[in-house]
Amino acid sequence: MIDLRSDTVTTPTDAMRKVIADAEVGDDVYHDDPVVLALEERVAGLLSKDDAVYVPTGTMSNQVALRVHTDPGDVVIAAQGAHINGHELGAPAVLSGIRVNEIPSERGTFTAEAVRAAVPVPPPSMPSSLFEPVTLVALENTHNEAGGTVWPLDLLESVTAVAGECGMAAHLDGARLWNASVASGVAEADFAASFHTVSVCFSKGLGAPMGSALAGETGLIERARRFKQLFGGGFRQAGMMAAGALYAVENHRDRLAEDHANASRLAGGVSEIPGVQIEPAEVETNIVYFGIADAPRVCLDLEQAGVLMLPVSPNRIRAVTHLGIESADVNKALTVLREVVGV
Ligand SMILES: *Cc1c(COP(=O)(O)O)cnc(C)c1O
Repeated sequence: MIDLRSDTVTTPTDAMRKVIADAEVGDDVYHDDPVVLALEERVAGLLSKDDAVYVPTGTMSNQVALRVHTDPGDVVIAAQGAHINGHELGAPAVLSGIRVNEIPSERGTFTAEAVRAAVPVPPPSMPSSLFEPVTLVALENTHNEAGGTVWPLDLLESVTAVAGECGMAAHLDGARLWNASVASGVAEADFAASFHTVSVCFSKGLGAPMGSALAGETGLIERARRFKQLFGGGFRQAGMMAAGALYAVENHRDRLAEDHANASRLAGGVSEIPGVQIEPAEVETNIVYFGIADAPRVCLDLEQAGVLMLPVSPNRIRAVTHLGIESADVNKALTVLREVVGV
């Protein structure tokens, strides 16, 4: 099977399995796991933050961050289609009692003016206590639903600057921050600099079996450790998994360029198929979306021929390149897609 549904479908390489098997572990809840501590220190260093906390999933990392920054009744501003909202089952409402205001976005990005416009300005005649406090802005880089798009650094910094002026904290959902860095040449730490908290995933393109980390200043990460435990994320001998993550951070970041090249070639090939809608130039990283009639049926036919893609709506398909996909797999996927479409 050529599995292009997601970059989460990767399985550990032999070298990664070896470091996992050999990991020296302890009880992470007691801060006794040496590999977890090493991973947290490495990630904090890469992002130029004081500290980081290793958690089981990217969803937990984001939701812990939202809980850290907000009180019930607060509002978070995020782009349309933000992962923290719809793709995390409405967790902000359930776990933090907050509302996410999804503002219109241009390929996953928005402007400083849009942030300002989303903050209510109470007229002098009305008490400010009648208005919802907008206390956090959350950006996603790369933006998943918008197609793995990268935030330009200057736009991102203008947004966090205005958020600061408006008294908001800023959180970065960097599940694929590694991809954003490789694609743009902007270091992870530079993307992270103007945020109070940054979440990164090890189980997407980096190819580790599980885990994410939330980085930020000491006090915030201390508070995050409390909510990690409260949300049920106190995992014990987590060093087995942290070993895979640490290996991935050291060995699988640079190779993301291959995934981007494969995605770009896939998009180019798809664009030559009649009846398919795609802008190949807009594929910046490893996520390819294209419009096609009867997407669920197309995906079933693809599956029969050994290719998995994800029908994300009745007329839209997602294909994601990753560690387990080679150049020849892209060729095969394109051949099969042409056959299924009948050209
Ligand atoms: C996958 C993803 C997450 C969540 O990660 P899980 O480990 O699957 O919970 C968060 N944000 C974005 C943008 C993602 O793509």
